[in-house]
Amino acid sequence: MFLYTVLAMSCLFCKIVDGTIPSTSVFEDDVCYAFADIHPQAPVHVLVAPRKHIVSMADATQDDRSVLGHLLWAAAEIARTKGLPKGYRVVLNTGQDGGQTVDHLHVHLLGGRQLSWPPG
Ligand code: AMP
Ligand code: ZN
Repeated sequence: MFLYTVLAMSCLFCKIVDGTIPSTSVFEDDVCYAFADIHPQAPVHVLVAPRKHIVSMADATQDDRSVLGHLLWAAAEIARTKGLPKGYRVVLNTGQDGGQTVDHLHVHLLGGRQLSWPPG
């Protein structure tokens, strides 16, 4: 518990979630906080992070199943409010090979342009 608290205290997205570091809020509820990505890769680029400090998808436990589902629901809800009738992409970069740079689980919601595939 002590280690968890120390990790969370030094975590960028925990500080964004608790308001210590400013962000542009897009959506929030008791489970998650969504905010604009500081380096947007598409006209709509929102990050949806759980209020709970979970390092990555690989670290999510059985107890986190409802949180994971909630993040996807929130992303879909945000997409509806942003009006993305032609579609969008949700991405969960995980670990080093997955290109994760912030070690607090987050869903990227990207939309507003044609996205290419496969990713780099
Ligand atoms: P990832 O590489 O999947 O871990 O994604 C981290 C994302 O966080 C990147 O898209 C960054 O642009 C974004 N980011 C980093 N710092 C901030 C910040 N202070 N506010 C908003 N987004 C940020
Ligand atoms: Zn955190």
